[in-house]
Amino acid sequence: MKNQQSFSHLISSSFTMGMFALGIIGFSVGCREVQTNQPVETTEQYEEAMEVNCADHATHGKSPAILADTYANFAALAATEASSAYSKQWRTTSSTTIICTPHGGGIEAGTTEICDSVAGNDYDFYSFTGLKTPNSGNATLHITSVNFDEPKGDELIKAASKALVLHGKADNNNEIVYVGGRDAALRTKVKSELEAEGFTAIIDTTSSISGQAKANFTNRTTSEKGCQLEITTKLRQKLMSNLFNGPTNRMNSRTIHFTKFVRALRKAVQ
Ligand SMILES: [Zn+2]
Repeated sequence: MKNQQSFSHLISSSFTMGMFALGIIGFSVGCREVQTNQPVETTEQYEEAMEVNCADHATHGKSPAILADTYANFAALAATEASSAYSKQWRTTSSTTIICTPHGGGIEAGTTEICDSVAGNDYDFYSFTGLKTPNSGNATLHITSVNFDEPKGDELIKAASKALVLHGKADNNNEIVYVGGRDAALRTKVKSELEAEGFTAIIDTTSSISGQAKANFTNRTTSEKGCQLEITTKLRQKLMSNLFNGPTNRMNSRTIHFTKFVRALRKAVQ
């Protein structure tokens, strides 16, 4: 039995109207696909999933020759991994903006929760969510962004005109958001709004994690561009103090900085 829990949003103003726009809630069989009309859903299994500090890949955008991914694409992952190892969560709205992560759950911890709250019921939401337990490793579920082709995520981002895609960057020492992707206007807005809330945001269009490839998941929108954030470990721990002990603990440890971060990103995508 799946147990859905809504939570009292820290960002309260814009969800009420959105609730009227969404009438569909459903679960499909097979692998763990969850379509929900409630921001942030949990399942019993989801709650049980605990993860350790994953690799938080700094491999995005690197050439295939030096990628450390276990799987080249989603089909390879699905052929090997148990369906209980991951889930796909999404909500659709009348908006053509999507807030999403291909490395959610325990893969790059905290990205799912941030995306879910930024999207609320105003923007499309998608998360490919690692559900593995601590010693079994969510990092193997990481498919680098240029190769990430999970069908539902691919379908949703290709239908959007504007995309904000979240990642976690392994860095325990600095509280920084690296702002990349090909959408220059959105990059600028994101940097500005994050700085207005007191965060450090750096525009990155040149590094190996800058998300500039046209094939990058972020840039598959109808406008052929999107904005991606690489959020350091230390900053994610500032947003959610209990980041690596499963989704329930993560949600329950949100701080005032989480509220500010979400508020900034919601302003940026308006
Ligand atoms: Zn990532």
